[in-house]
Amino acid sequence: MKKIIKNGTIVTAADTYKADLLIENGKIAMIGQQLDESGAEVIDAKGCYVFPGGIDPHTHLDMPFGGTVTKDDFQSGTIAAAFGGTTTIIDFCLTNKGEPLQKAIETWHNKAKGKAVIDYSFHLMISEINDDVLAELPKVIEEEGITSFKVFMAYKNVFQADDGTLYRTLLAAKELGALVMVHAENGDVIDYLIKQALEQGHTDPIYHALTRPPELEGEATGRACQLTELADSQLYVVHVSCAQAVEKIAEARNKGLNVWGETCPQYLVLDQSYLERPNFEGAKYVWSPPLREKWHQEVLWNALKNGQLQTLGSDQCSFDFKGQKELGRGDFSKIPNGGPIIEDRVSILFSEGVKKGRITLNQFVDIMSTRIAKLFGLFPKKGTIAVGSDADLVIFDPNVERVISAKTHHMAVDYNPFEGMKVTGEPVSVLSRGEFVIRDKAFVGKPGSGQYIKREKYGKYAMSTKDEQLTI
Ligand SMILES: [Zn+2]
Repeated sequence: MKKIIKNGTIVTAADTYKADLLIENGKIAMIGQQLDESGAEVIDAKGCYVFPGGIDPHTHLDMPFGGTVTKDDFQSGTIAAAFGGTTTIIDFCLTNKGEPLQKAIETWHNKAKGKAVIDYSFHLMISEINDDVLAELPKVIEEEGITSFKVFMAYKNVFQADDGTLYRTLLAAKELGALVMVHAENGDVIDYLIKQALEQGHTDPIYHALTRPPELEGEATGRACQLTELADSQLYVVHVSCAQAVEKIAEARNKGLNVWGETCPQYLVLDQSYLERPNFEGAKYVWSPPLREKWHQEVLWNALKNGQLQTLGSDQCSFDFKGQKELGRGDFSKIPNGGPIIEDRVSILFSEGVKKGRITLNQFVDIMSTRIAKLFGLFPKKGTIAVGSDADLVIFDPNVERVISAKTHHMAVDYNPFEGMKVTGEPVSVLSRGEFVIRDKAFVGKPGSGQYIKREKYGKYAMSTKDEQLTI
């Protein structure tokens, strides 16, 4: 059935204007004034913004880690995402050394099948490069539409790849049309610092942060940028947490390198002191990279504002406090890393960013949706409001106030790291390909209705850093 969204203010990465939207066959069919309502269901968006649905480029749903599995799977995780105004996620497909990539991809398809309530896609982790992997990569891109590869520079003896693997992945990505993503922390030095701390009897959560200092994120970020320059390739640095890393990304971009950076809500509003909370509560705030001293927050906000960082991911990777985070009692290195963020990513960016005057409304849409769509080959199907684009839409009340709490969130975990935080602005209704997933703040979607999205190669819509600098 046709739908018309009336009386809303449409906001894209470029424009803000009042118009009606006609949705037909899951797509935006027309944008205009006083559209013909006959045969259409009319949705009143008075007093609300209408945004393109959020795209979360960084999630870990149903993922094994540290002897346990993330609590949110593709059902609870995508329902929570939808409540928060996100209509597409790109999840990380983990691979095992010596195993065909295709096998890992099938495992991930099976995790999502029948569960996702919004559309989804995958990034592929690269842990080694050999003839078998190189032979499989073209198929991964052409047939699976997976056009981004993730390399870990940290988690020694678990996920960490060596520099040779990173360099060869950058070369392969350049040739095949993919974007290389890095977790940039110096895993070797961190491994030494962790051993040293434990030997000295330092076992509390705060030592998670103290053994992963920002210098080691800056160093790894700089190294990845240099290797990208040498390979003449393209790089996306995930979860940037500190000034040292922002500096390296800015330096690379000033040289005209195609280097992009993502940060996450937790780094924008939480800080290292949370890890010192008593009764092991600090474990709730263990991420890698760790939360930093408060002064880094302003650096990150400024980087989003001036375009040195371009996107916001959630790094959704949720574990219960009871029974999961608690695995690290008596040894901070055994605390599962990560937190439940998927639901509040968009709200926090709006409330702390737009409402507090740190970024503009159009920048907000760019950071949480449009730029991500362009970098990861989803644009213009996703990430904008234009005729022919998927009707992935958020009707957003910019003035309502709410308090974030585990009591009311929709993630499957027993705590929320933003507990008690007041935010302004909330999605009222969310549509995925023209169908309501959230209607008047209630879930009306259907598990399994989310579709797997094959993505375009890197470069089709991602503007190069050089072109971008010319247009500023
Ligand atoms: Zn992650």
